[in-house]
Amino acid sequence: MDLALRNCVAVVTGGSSGIGLASASAFLEEGADVAICGRDPARLQAAQADLGSRFGPERVLAACCDVTKADEVRAFADAATSWRGKVDILVNNAGQGRMSTFADTTDDQWREELDLKFFSQIYPVRAFRPALERSRQGAIVAVNSLLAYQPEPYMVCTSAARAGVQSLVKSLAREFAPAIRVNSVVLGLIDSGQWERRFQARENKGQSRDEWIAELAKSKHIPYGRLGLPEEVARAIVFLASPAVGYITGASLEISGGVSRYI
Ligand code: NDP
Repeated sequence: MDLALRNCVAVVTGGSSGIGLASASAFLEEGADVAICGRDPARLQAAQADLGSRFGPERVLAACCDVTKADEVRAFADAATSWRGKVDILVNNAGQGRMSTFADTTDDQWREELDLKFFSQIYPVRAFRPALERSRQGAIVAVNSLLAYQPEPYMVCTSAARAGVQSLVKSLAREFAPAIRVNSVVLGLIDSGQWERRFQARENKGQSRDEWIAELAKSKHIPYGRLGLPEEVARAIVFLASPAVGYITGASLEISGGVSRYI
């Protein structure tokens, strides 16, 4: 199947690690040029060097940008749009989850989490919307979590915010049709930078990574017995973003190894 991504320009927020980096790589493999952003300059530079060495440095733009800061997102959008004169695809991937129960979560932590989850969508959508409209095949993919539909009490504010983002995606799909398609992926547990950091912080330091992952998968009742790979998510993101599936909008694709319990 030809995804028709050659000569497209894709923007991936949080493209310096995990799912974002795998998505950038997958877009490049399909012939699209890619602009990525992240906050940590060293991590961003390493990602740019890695992608550039595999696909050609001229095909990758990297810019420091915190997606919760409107002025930084506008500057990134200006740079990405003038780089190739257009942007066709926006993947809103940047972010992380917060582990805390209702009792553990302060007002400031609620505000910080709601800010991250909503404005990591709102600011890039607002900044890139004119370019996506001009593209005539504009597409947005929001990276979201299964927690939106299946909340967990130990991630109470992340779960609530995730549900709100699914609602936002649905509204945008209606409001932006037929100019821009808006879809989401809802993820279970994916073995990325977030889980690597949690592995490093594990209590039982004698436990190997494989043992730790197997125990995690068992405790989460994942039928596939493992976490997902960033590349498995990336392929779904590229598919949803591609002009080849031009009638898909307002959809959400679950990637969870079968862990969901809702219909
Ligand atoms: P990683 O930690 O591997 O990657 C996160 C990326 O986002 C990094 O490039 C990071 O760079 C960037 N980032 C984080 N905050 C910001 C910010 N405010 N502004 C700009 N860039 C930012 O994690 P994942 O690949 O797992 O996460 C990707 C997305 O998937 C996240 O939104 C996450 O919440 C979501 N997700 C992941 C799940 C999983 O199990 N892995 C499950 C459900 C959802 P830097 O820190 O340098 O800014």
